[in-house]
Amino acid sequence: MPTKKTPKALDRRDFFKVGAVAGVGAVLPARDAEAYPEFRRRLRESDCQRCALAAGRRHIVVDRGNPDAPIIAIGEAPGLQEDARGIAFCGRAGRMLDELFAAEGLSTDKHLLLVNVVKCRPPGNRDPQPEEMASCQPFLERQLAFSPARFIVLMGSTALRRFAPERKPFSAQVGHFFRLPEWPGREFLALHHPAVLLRNRSLEPLARKHVRALAVRVAT
Ligand code: URA
Repeated sequence: MPTKKTPKALDRRDFFKVGAVAGVGAVLPARDAEAYPEFRRRLRESDCQRCALAAGRRHIVVDRGNPDAPIIAIGEAPGLQEDARGIAFCGRAGRMLDELFAAEGLSTDKHLLLVNVVKCRPPGNRDPQPEEMASCQPFLERQLAFSPARFIVLMGSTALRRFAPERKPFSAQVGHFFRLPEWPGREFLALHHPAVLLRNRSLEPLARKHVRALAVRVAT
């Protein structure tokens, strides 16, 4: 009978190393995916002090959803609710996101892993600063390296800029699928951030159309 391999333990040096997992953009074997819960636990409990956001946060917010999902959706930063509960997209924006995807047959628990560019709440929900995003980059990279997702959804301009700074402005990219040479095997989609949809309900039909196009690709 074939034996199941034990996931390799993450040591502290690996944990904080940028691009520590071979071929950050590549899809990794199942062995590494099994190590994700350990990564999540260690990051949550790490009391990370890599940037100034540590001073004001209540929780390090790692994710919500399924680490083995075909879609990883990247937001900006935790808000008030997320900071209080330690769960990504657990407030109004998260509910809007769940509904948007559920309407196209995609469930957050099954088809999505929700993460953010930065893992700690910026004071007053201000935009994350470049140095805060850079400090948090190793954690996002690790999440992507662990994830087998074929689709990377960039929700809002902060996430889009992080991956494709030359692809501006966001308004010209939203709804577009594209590939990047440094992320082989992955397809990107720029999508309106759910907080923007809450502020501007007239954009919702367009966002639904974009999620529908994603659902079709996921199914094929
Ligand atoms: N907005 C985000 O970008 N991320 C969250 O987790 C919540 C709101």
